[in-house]
Amino acid sequence: MDTYLDHNATTPVRPEAADAVARALTQHGNASSVHRFGRLVRHTLDEARESVASLVGASPANIVFTSGGTEANNQALRGFDGPVLVSAVEHDSVLGVRADARIVDVDADGVLSLEHLHEMLARCEEPALVSVMRANNETGVMQPIGDVVRLAHEHGALVHCDAVQAAGKIDVSFAQLGVDMMSLSAHKLGGPQGVGALIVRDGFDPEPLLRGGGQERRRRAGTENVAGIAGFGAAARIAQDNLDLFAGLNGLRDDMETLLRAAIPDIVIHGADGERLPNTSCIGLPGMTAEIQVMQLDLAGVAVSSGSACSSGKVAPSHVLRAMGHDDAAAQSAIRVSLGWSSVAQDVDHFVDAWTAMAQRRSPNVDARRSVA
Ligand code: PLP
Repeated sequence: MDTYLDHNATTPVRPEAADAVARALTQHGNASSVHRFGRLVRHTLDEARESVASLVGASPANIVFTSGGTEANNQALRGFDGPVLVSAVEHDSVLGVRADARIVDVDADGVLSLEHLHEMLARCEEPALVSVMRANNETGVMQPIGDVVRLAHEHGALVHCDAVQAAGKIDVSFAQLGVDMMSLSAHKLGGPQGVGALIVRDGFDPEPLLRGGGQERRRRAGTENVAGIAGFGAAARIAQDNLDLFAGLNGLRDDMETLLRAAIPDIVIHGADGERLPNTSCIGLPGMTAEIQVMQLDLAGVAVSSGSACSSGKVAPSHVLRAMGHDDAAAQSAIRVSLGWSSVAQDVDHFVDAWTAMAQRRSPNVDARRSVA
């Protein structure tokens, strides 16, 4: 039996979203055309826009459809002319956009330091843009966005929130959070890959990344990915209806962590003392690299991921765990287990059995203290 516990990487497409994609592919008008074919497609886009807006308490006019979370993050940061402050635990699609970005520290739980943000805002010579994620992709740790917004706005700064991992998993309200921009991605909430949105507050127009067409109110040129957007809309509707069920995943996650701790007491659950998404667990096993763990679990039929980024065949220590104060060894020995809408108790049982067998085969010479900074 194969067990998929990598929903933060991408979650299976909901059947309703797949149906919406298939239906949209049978419509062959261009949404910019005025004839009936075009109007039909425009209607499909309008419906999806309403569903995505409703999921995050925004208005349809605030939604700019993009090719995904990465493009939305790029548009938010690249379109801003002024200093940019980002937390140290942001996704690479935020951290890698502006070479001049200034980094705000997080504490040992992975939560942004409001004192440091305050200091950095006070030092900005002109109004800044602050980019902070709603929830972290590796640890699930949530950020105090309300406080960030209050502080930033007091200093005349704008706030962008990467809500890619949070939307569809917990209640996210664009209006209540009071942010100026927010990024979403369809494939993290049951929609297809390659489609997402930047949500932009009324009266604020970020510079387009793509020019040369009037689509998306001139905020993103190019004929829309209608099928992808239709799937995004359907997934957003289902995710909104199932937020309570998703919240219940924390029961499975917490039981799993209890069993792992009982089996191998020297494990570290990163971010467990902070407020976390209900589905995510970042488990450090001293003495065994994440790369080896992921491969061994794969052989046992369980799919999880390493928090660390893999580039050119080498696994680098997780920048998130490094920012939380862990040394390279600890930052290289944590895996991420993420549950999702299709997860059941048997998935967790399978993982716990496979992980425990693997951990018990660990070298007996492991010094647990070595890897915890
Ligand atoms: N932001 C976060 C927090 C993510 O986890 C991801 C994807 O893993 C992205 C942005 C990028 O989204 P996409 O895959 O749609 O480009």
